[in-house]
Amino acid sequence: MNEVPITAIPIEQVERAVGPKMFEQFQASTADTRRRLGRSTVWHINTTAQGGGVAEMLVSLLAYARGLDMDMRWLVIDGDPGFFDLTKRIHNNLHGHSGDGGELGDEEHKHYEMTLAGNIKNLLKVIRPRDIVVCHDPQTAGLVPALAEHWAKVVWRCHIGPDKFNDSVNRAWMFLAKYLEQAQRYVFTRTAFIPPQLDESKCVIIPPSIDPLSCKNQPMAADVVEAILGKTGIIEGGLGGGDPVFTRENGSVGRVERCADMIHLGRAPRFDRPLIVQVSRWDNLKDPIGVMRGFGQYLAGEEASLILAGPNVSAVADDPEGLQVLADVEAAWRNLPHDVRKHVHLACLPMTDREENAAIVNALQRHATIVVQKSLQEGFGLTVTEAMWKSKPMVATAVGGIQDQIESGVHGLLIDDPTDLHAFGDALKRFLHDPEFAKKAGEAARARVEKEFLFTRHLCQYLEVFDDMDPNPHVQVA
Ligand code: UDP
Repeated sequence: MNEVPITAIPIEQVERAVGPKMFEQFQASTADTRRRLGRSTVWHINTTAQGGGVAEMLVSLLAYARGLDMDMRWLVIDGDPGFFDLTKRIHNNLHGHSGDGGELGDEEHKHYEMTLAGNIKNLLKVIRPRDIVVCHDPQTAGLVPALAEHWAKVVWRCHIGPDKFNDSVNRAWMFLAKYLEQAQRYVFTRTAFIPPQLDESKCVIIPPSIDPLSCKNQPMAADVVEAILGKTGIIEGGLGGGDPVFTRENGSVGRVERCADMIHLGRAPRFDRPLIVQVSRWDNLKDPIGVMRGFGQYLAGEEASLILAGPNVSAVADDPEGLQVLADVEAAWRNLPHDVRKHVHLACLPMTDREENAAIVNALQRHATIVVQKSLQEGFGLTVTEAMWKSKPMVATAVGGIQDQIESGVHGLLIDDPTDLHAFGDALKRFLHDPEFAKKAGEAARARVEKEFLFTRHLCQYLEVFDDMDPNPHVQVA
């Protein structure tokens, strides 16, 4: 088990991030709850400090909370490969997909509980009975009973779910439900994800959010975008003159030094070539192969290239499928006709320095002509929010939380059937051929994120949940 170090972000930066009006509202609506939180520590527990949306959000939310004098902390628990294979199976099942098709029976319960028992010993050394604990996703559900019996107030936060309940979803919930009874609250991203196995009266809906000033989303001048993408080897050519720099979370200047690991024919796309970009973990539910095929079948004659970018595969601790998915994507890429393949580029982004990685993603999203998120299922899709914030026209699938972000035709274009490559190709062409429409959709997208998906709203909602939980009768809070 590790505690992830958090650098507090000073309160003045909240105002810079969201503007004076939202800051004022935030201050007013959280003043009492912050005071009532008093000396309680809020612990967030998950299984990875980088890669994926949960880690992305915790970094910012906790840094701002610390700057507001709240003692919020982040623990990452350990597991062996068998544990992560199992929890990825549950993850896929909760999204309605069979995943690796493996069992969720007695043996799996045993392995799951044994792994978590090792972590619980360490957790109970640092978590005090008056503390609040937010356990994230299926990997941590099995911690709930021990934490509740330790008199901590436990919230279980589920970031994923299906559009339709099926046998896979139900068996995953059957596996998890027995661990969750003692949680005081369940937080879901959207109402449709709430399963019949849980007590609905304990459920709260909190959509995710982004931080406009994080390395991932901070403003970036065009020459810096170009310098970062040139330095990493993702893009070639351009005007030159910028430095590959960004502002780190502690306010110091960061510099992109590392190269992306590129798989392509010949050279990187030129800076002036229109670019379609999807940034995602290497995960079948993000459908990277479908993106490539759609591009190959319907965009081959267009003046555009495609970049599929994802993390360096060894870096995401709780995602054991990344290596295999990347190998499958590469094999599918090798099978593309030569004329298509020369316009499709696979980029594995360096993950050694999380903030450097975020700056590279920032530059790539800003440089994209169109950003794509062709997920077969999605919890929320922070990559969508990030691109919308950068005023990008989005082509995405109408699945999970993406539907809560984009109204098709207004903030982007949605594909109703995520496997419909024809519709996918048409949507891309619509934006490529109509830059005015693309610009308008991008502007509407940005305005929507500004209104609904910034971290201040998210933090406020968390505080309301904490404030609303029953006081613990067994603990005297000073
Ligand atoms: N991400 C990243 N580097 C990568 C790939 C993804 O920083 O190489 C980030 C991405 O920008 C986003 C998060 O990982 O912030 C993915 O969150 P999302 O909700 O889209 O999907 P998840 O991975 O949680 O399923």
